[in-house]
Amino acid sequence: MTLTADVPIENELPMTDSQSRVTADHLRRDAYLYVRQSSLHQVANNTESSRRQYDLRGRAVALGWPTERVVVIDVDQGQSGSSATDREGFQRLVADVSLQKAGIVLGLECSRLARNNADWHRLLELCALSGTLICDEDGLYDPGQINDRLLLGLKGTISEAELHFIRARLQGGLLAKAGRGELAVRLPVGLVYDPVGNVVLDPDAGVRQAIGHLFETFEATGSASAAVKAFAAERLTFPGRHGPGGPHAGELYWKPLRHDQALFVLHNPRYAGAYFYGRRRQVTDIDGHSTTVNKPREEWTVLIPDAHPGYIGFDQYERNQATLAANAAFRGQERRAGPAREGPALLQGLAICGRCGKRMAATYHARRDGTLLPDYACRREGIATGTPPCQTICGAGIDKAVAALVLEQLTPLAIETALQVSAELAQRAVDADRIRATHVERARYAADAARRRYLAVDPANRLVADTLEADWNHKLRELSDAQDDYERATQAGNSPLTDDQQARIRALASDLPALFNDPATPTRERKRLIRLLATDVTLIKTDDHITAHVRLSGGAQHTLTVPRPLRAWEAHTTPAATIAAIDELLAEHTYDETAAILNERGLTGGWGKPFTVPSLTQLCRNRNIPDLRQRLRGAGMLTLDEIAGEMGVTTATIKRWQHRGHITGRRIDARRAHLYHPGQHRPPDGRRRDQLTPPEAVPATRDDHPDADRHGNTTTNSPGGAV
Ligand SMILES: [Zn+2]
Repeated sequence: MTLTADVPIENELPMTDSQSRVTADHLRRDAYLYVRQSSLHQVANNTESSRRQYDLRGRAVALGWPTERVVVIDVDQGQSGSSATDREGFQRLVADVSLQKAGIVLGLECSRLARNNADWHRLLELCALSGTLICDEDGLYDPGQINDRLLLGLKGTISEAELHFIRARLQGGLLAKAGRGELAVRLPVGLVYDPVGNVVLDPDAGVRQAIGHLFETFEATGSASAAVKAFAAERLTFPGRHGPGGPHAGELYWKPLRHDQALFVLHNPRYAGAYFYGRRRQVTDIDGHSTTVNKPREEWTVLIPDAHPGYIGFDQYERNQATLAANAAFRGQERRAGPAREGPALLQGLAICGRCGKRMAATYHARRDGTLLPDYACRREGIATGTPPCQTICGAGIDKAVAALVLEQLTPLAIETALQVSAELAQRAVDADRIRATHVERARYAADAARRRYLAVDPANRLVADTLEADWNHKLRELSDAQDDYERATQAGNSPLTDDQQARIRALASDLPALFNDPATPTRERKRLIRLLATDVTLIKTDDHITAHVRLSGGAQHTLTVPRPLRAWEAHTTPAATIAAIDELLAEHTYDETAAILNERGLTGGWGKPFTVPSLTQLCRNRNIPDLRQRLRGAGMLTLDEIAGEMGVTTATIKRWQHRGHITGRRIDARRAHLYHPGQHRPPDGRRRDQLTPPEAVPATRDDHPDADRHGNTTTNSPGGAV
């Protein structure tokens, strides 16, 4: 609907009128043809309109513009005209109009240039100020004249109203239908329309089972990510349907269940048999960017529970929502709104996974002494698919290495080199500047010469005068181009550094490392320093080392290799050399002696503490190191009971004999337990004495102790060597 379509006069008038409106000033500037289709569908199918829009180029030529000076702006094809924010082409048009580069703006139904009335009026005002004409199929307008401006403003208003009426009519119908629950919308996988248009469960039993299983698993575990993990553990896949359009439209496909997909199913009321409409709202911010936000349940446009069969009941759906909300409470909005992070991970936000290219999250683990150590983990994909994280890297060594590398870039030598390079660049810039300046000078001379030639000719000689005028214009344009180039290059070029600037840069070499290493500097500031100098750090972990590719802000790249930090159990493992020493010592010594010798040599266990008999005993048990007793038993030595039995006497007698040196044994622990050499003979007078001694003569055995103490070493040493 256009105002002027039925007014034939408008079509007749412009031809004569237009000639008078187009002046030399307009022709000196370019003609701008703005081509637009508001949706991709229109771009593909409504080629007629597109052709008509391009035809306007002929109109511009008829009005006096050379073909090569018609600038076509058609980058906005496929974008809605409702707001100018994201339409790069329209913005360029506005910019060029305000810079007085455009003599005329052409467009099919000009008011459609900008569907948003504010954009349209801004363009009109700019055209009026810069003396730019506007032309559409209906005619030629000069926004500088009040009549034309009124007409154009009216056209814009009508165009906007047109859009509003279309939308209102469409939406009114839609809403009424949706209110009755009859508006057919795309169904999520698992629900389909039957031939008469009722919503039913998918006839495919596999699909129904998979969706049912998701709801059951969620109910059992109470968490969407646990359900995803369960699916992954059982290697179950989940159905999806290809969207409309494309060769596979509407076809089913199976893929491992993802976390976002599980949440989509759990949050979607259609699975509970409820019909809904208007669950989200488009919000346009002050910059014109629109985002979709979820509305709270009470604000949904339509919600009809029990509208069709579902996989769960509506009360179950409500319970699921409560569970999901509780799960999300501590990691959703609240956490995002928290203060800037203060943790000590230097590379937080800079670390990139070297395996999959995703950003790595910084987490921390605490040491026993309370210090926090950073870890970098790539786990977003892991959470989404319920699989283990891609890689987790202990960050302590990496942080240190990267900090050292970055500070290394600021040594006095490095800065001196950079300053020299900068001086050289400045010198080259001066040379280039001189060359560009001569170029401008040449263009100015050519323009002057053309001007003089034009002034010298007799104005009555139109033929020559016109040619010379065109030539002069051409030269002037070249001059202005050369000047533009010159200015642009000068702005982009490096101006030489002043002495003061150089001194300040030199001071950085000592200031920055000092500031960085100062314990009083907050970690947050340290992180900012690193960010100034490094763009990102890509981390890859292998079995024995971590590789970090550090990209510095200047574009230079460095590769660091850091040994992989020991795992906790590795860090607290007794060194192999100590184990070997223990093994060797235990062949000859008891636990208490071994511990004493080890401590004397300064050897320690994994935690760096001196050995004790219990700790040594435990270690040997864990490592299957035989102790002295086991070794001697293996060599055939007898226990007290065994030798007493073999010689037919009591254990007390054996002890006495040993005490007197008649038989030999060997001490095997701190409590003076002994093992005895086999095949020994009883002392010549053994039997009698033994018989004389009453078995109750326990005190005598007890008396052994101080003696054994005295002789302990002798008994241990002398026969010990024989074993
Ligand atoms: Zn990764």
